[in-house]
Amino acid sequence: MRAALLHHVHHLTDDELPAYIYDLPGLRAHVRTIRAALPRRARLLYAAKANSDPRLLRALTEHVDGFEVASGGEIRHIRGLFPDAPIAFGGPGKTVGELVQALDAGVERLHIESEHELRTLTTVLGDRTADVLLRVNVPVAVRSVALAMGGGPSPFGLDPAQLDHCLRIIAADGRIRLRGLHAHLASGLDARAHLALVDQVMGWAVRWAHQRGITLSEVNIGGGMSVGYADPGDVFDWPAFGAGLRRTLERHPGLTLWIEPGRSVTAYCGWYVTQVLDVKFSRGEAFAVLRGGTHHLRTPAAKQHDQPFEIIPDDSWHQPWDRPEARDEPVTLVGQLCTPKDVLARHATVARLRVGDRIAFAMAGAYAWNISHHEFLMHPHPAFHHVDDAGTPLTHTYDAHTYVGRTV
Ligand SMILES: *Cc1c(COP(=O)(O)O)cnc(C)c1O
Repeated sequence: MRAALLHHVHHLTDDELPAYIYDLPGLRAHVRTIRAALPRRARLLYAAKANSDPRLLRALTEHVDGFEVASGGEIRHIRGLFPDAPIAFGGPGKTVGELVQALDAGVERLHIESEHELRTLTTVLGDRTADVLLRVNVPVAVRSVALAMGGGPSPFGLDPAQLDHCLRIIAADGRIRLRGLHAHLASGLDARAHLALVDQVMGWAVRWAHQRGITLSEVNIGGGMSVGYADPGDVFDWPAFGAGLRRTLERHPGLTLWIEPGRSVTAYCGWYVTQVLDVKFSRGEAFAVLRGGTHHLRTPAAKQHDQPFEIIPDDSWHQPWDRPEARDEPVTLVGQLCTPKDVLARHATVARLRVGDRIAFAMAGAYAWNISHHEFLMHPHPAFHHVDDAGTPLTHTYDAHTYVGRTV
């Protein structure tokens, strides 16, 4: 944890924990690195579903070309913050209301998931036009370690054979412009595996278009760039990825390549900081019970991994009995929930962990608070601290339903 963040954590009282600490300078530096690695003909969208915290989005907005959204709620949220930012609207199961909302909000791109969705769009367009990408489940092999969204039977996108029906609908309509194809096929691929997939997708897309005598101006290859929870230092190799994209684009002049990462952009800027309430031993195994739990940070439960963490020792101890502790042994870190699934990290070897010490879980900036079941057990919600080196941190609580920050 950077010194500025640590400094802030030291000033929080026990009752102010758990808390989410966001590192805004760290986020800006990271997205600058991503941007700098990408070739000129690449467009970078941020997938808002990974974390749509307004201050994170504000830190990102000048470094990205726009936002990828997957619901009417996200359209409203992004438009409310950035009246002019380009938006691409993807995701399966768009309602009629959401399609109308997208047109009203002037979204730049619609990612069409099925023939039925395309036909529905034609019924709500009126005298407007729409720029669409057809999302296709490209017939390529997706490595099995990744969270596959394509390459086999999938609720996402269109089978190649269904694309021709869509082309006929578009040709007959006149109000819909086909900009290109979209393929978000997997999450969790490293730069090399991702590039190999991109090459297959691009090759397939260009052949497909050529056979039909159409010109593609864009291919969106989605997000899913890997994040190594087992080792926070194992960051996706953006320079190698960018260099690979540059080579791919050289083979396809006239094409613009869009990417829309989420997790790999914001995962690193968030910390979930809490405190050890109890250390106990059960049949010889050490458990540390922490304030909060997976109803605030569901990521380790959702992904079935151990969330990386740092121990922030706290030397104050005012009780007359021995301070419970684990020493040089594996400890399982659990939350306060009455379920055996409330595990944040399993069998993590620690030099020393005591009641009262603080724990800062790293990589809690994406798919963390916003995917968690906050109301379970009615614990207080964590506050959100946005640490910017320029001044004092801003602390927010979030209204559970509107997700609008209030300064406290
Ligand atoms: C979720 C999603 C993304 C972002 O994926 P990450 O793994 O967070 O990078 C991008 N595009 C689509 C279509 C998605 O569903």
